[in-house]
Amino acid sequence: MRLRTAPVLGVLLCAACAVATLAGQSGTAVDRDRLMREVATLAAPAMEGRRAGTAGGMKARAWLVERFGEIGLTPAGTSGYLQPFTAVGRNGRAAAANVIGRVAGTDPRARTIVVTAHYDHDGIRGGALYHGADDNASGVVVLLAAARHFSMQRPRHPIVFAALDAEEMGQRGAAALLESGLIPRDAIALNVNLDMLSRSDRNEIYAAGTSHHPWIRPIVEEAARPSKVTVRFGHDTGGGADDWTTQSDHGEFHKAGLPWVYFGVENHPDYHQPTDTADKINVTFFGDVADMIVAALRTFDARIP
Ligand SMILES: [Zn+2]
Repeated sequence: MRLRTAPVLGVLLCAACAVATLAGQSGTAVDRDRLMREVATLAAPAMEGRRAGTAGGMKARAWLVERFGEIGLTPAGTSGYLQPFTAVGRNGRAAAANVIGRVAGTDPRARTIVVTAHYDHDGIRGGALYHGADDNASGVVVLLAAARHFSMQRPRHPIVFAALDAEEMGQRGAAALLESGLIPRDAIALNVNLDMLSRSDRNEIYAAGTSHHPWIRPIVEEAARPSKVTVRFGHDTGGGADDWTTQSDHGEFHKAGLPWVYFGVENHPDYHQPTDTADKINVTFFGDVADMIVAALRTFDARIP
């Protein structure tokens, strides 16, 4: 609905020479040891599966507030970094909170890029602990890596980093963020949602959503060109189980008519099982994906008017 074909083309032409630089930066952007340490922390038994409203969920939230502070993000919630809300969803009711920080952009006219990743998971059910390492400790720690990168190398667009709660209750954190008006809707250029990034037997990750917003695809393709992972497109048409359009937090941006792209891997046998643990992560694949996503964000920052 907002293809902006002419302006995007203009930016493409004048920014073409910057591509090598963007790719080069991505190669050194992400500390892989830190990625793995942080995933192990979020997926540890001490976090009790991070279900919204539980002690484990609050522990994960407090840990994220510390990381946001360490990185130096500007608080962008309703109370510091936090946006508390009551989540009412498919598993009942919970005292939930999003963790939201911001990096200022250098261009006062540029609209905001919103990076999201949900930090909640399924908690403890029937005595079994659902660690949620891939789903979605992996997305959260890549969000942190991107926040570190852009806090050191300021973007042109303002970037909001939102670690969302209560996705597993039906994307309640994303809904609460959009309903809050914390980021005015007409100030949102793009949502980049990260959910399940750390393992693939085929060395593949999907960038879903480009069927709805075709201008996004060439930007992702350019950013992904030097990557060792294969970025595939799809999972965004048909309306069935294979259509991921409404299956994670980007779905709320979609319902609001805002452009989005969702990075995530194909389902695997440990998806929503107690066996989704940190030791199952493919470290090389995960690091390559993190680099590609930081490069994609840099490229969006360069290309979006
Ligand atoms: Zn998830």
